[in-house]
Amino acid sequence: MQPAAAGGQGTDKVDAIAAAKLRGLPQIQRLLDLPATQPLIAQYSHPRVSAALRQVLARLRAELLDAASNIEIPDTPALVARAAAELAGARQPGLRRVINATGIILHTNLGRAPMAAEVAAAVADIARGYCNLEFDLATGARGSRTAAIEALLRALTGAPAALAVNNNAAAMLLALSALAQGGEVVVSRGELVEIGGGFRIPDVIQQGGARLVEVGTTNKTRLADYRAAITPATRVLLKVHQSNFRIAGFTEATPLTALARLAHEHGLLLVHDLGSGALRDAARPARPGETTVADSLAAGTDVVAFSGDKLLGGPQSGLLVGRGAAIDPMRHHPLLRALRLDKLCLAALEATLLLYQDDRDGALPVPRAMAQGAESLRARAEHVAARLGPIARIEASIGFAGGGALPGEGIASFAVSLNQPGISPEQLAARLRAHRPAVVGRIADARLLLDMLTIDDSDLAELVAAVREAVGPCAM
Ligand SMILES: *Cc1c(COP(=O)(O)O)cnc(C)c1O
Repeated sequence: MQPAAAGGQGTDKVDAIAAAKLRGLPQIQRLLDLPATQPLIAQYSHPRVSAALRQVLARLRAELLDAASNIEIPDTPALVARAAAELAGARQPGLRRVINATGIILHTNLGRAPMAAEVAAAVADIARGYCNLEFDLATGARGSRTAAIEALLRALTGAPAALAVNNNAAAMLLALSALAQGGEVVVSRGELVEIGGGFRIPDVIQQGGARLVEVGTTNKTRLADYRAAITPATRVLLKVHQSNFRIAGFTEATPLTALARLAHEHGLLLVHDLGSGALRDAARPARPGETTVADSLAAGTDVVAFSGDKLLGGPQSGLLVGRGAAIDPMRHHPLLRALRLDKLCLAALEATLLLYQDDRDGALPVPRAMAQGAESLRARAEHVAARLGPIARIEASIGFAGGGALPGEGIASFAVSLNQPGISPEQLAARLRAHRPAVVGRIADARLLLDMLTIDDSDLAELVAAVREAVGPCAM
């Protein structure tokens, strides 16, 4: 093939070759009339098959015109087959099930918390028909969308008031908009965090119409720093969970109780963005010092905001609990309408909170995964490795809670590492991602690891089948 030389005869020659090739492209109508095309038309309709063929030809035309390419025009059955693949691909849902073998329990890219079977059933039940979303069945009058959730949150946390919105970022935006608009919010420099996905505390404060006042230093913020920053414009003292990072060593943070006292002495509110929000002590074995929602409230915090789909193990949501005087302004803020939860999420959240109320939170996948012992993880790895034969090895591994929960605290786990001569770890990972359901592992030190921390026993058969298919029959 001629290089695409600049100007002169070289270009003319390339153009002549391309033109000759383009003349060889079949007409759309000829492809539509082929016997092989008729079943496609029956399945997808004439206009859709026609559009798919047009797309296949357009791509081919572009490839033929690319001077660097050296391709030939495929025969007509091959072109029809390409269109068929195109149409079949368009029918695949973009959102697919994934088996999480990363060892990160709350993986934001993989949808964070999986739901318990009975939570999913509650969602399916509400999804199929009408429901009393904003209808009081006792009186027949209009009802509150979140009354049931609020009652559960009050009972579970001991807070006098509660509210639920779309996610914790929305909860913080609503809290600061309703409580600090036009005023100042005091935050420690050590807590000006970016959670990922562009959620930065300074930006949220600004969006909420408040002014950020930074106090202390990255590693040390004392009560006196907060006190010195209070002015007549101050509305809120804000405490933010450091979530996805940890400053180790020479550090000092002001205790919540002292912050709450200071806020109340000055008629201010203490708002706590707890991030992950452990309702119970599930997180404590992994990290004894972790503050739970109840701990924060007991320390005197006016509003605690936390995610529903992190350690809590429910659907994506942002939960707000605290004093009535602090929650009520949010209830009447116009933003609430834009941040409200939909019925499917409400169904999932209520079913999740009911499991907590019944002391059955062990039925939720996230608390259950957090509580697994290393021995059961090793047994799971042995089960998988035994079915995969010589390509598999069992290794000790470190998993993580993830989602900004318990940063820096690894969870002892076991992984199955795969080694198939002739297939690179990257190739193997790509094949597993292409499988249905997709399997996502992690590559470390040039080998592919399947971490058992995030594998449910109900995933095992599919996981083994996916690996067998990915490595091919020769290996087994
Ligand atoms: C995760 C997190 C958020 C954001 O919560 P979403 O529910 O993802 O919106 C906010 N603040 C902290 C401290 C977090 O850890």
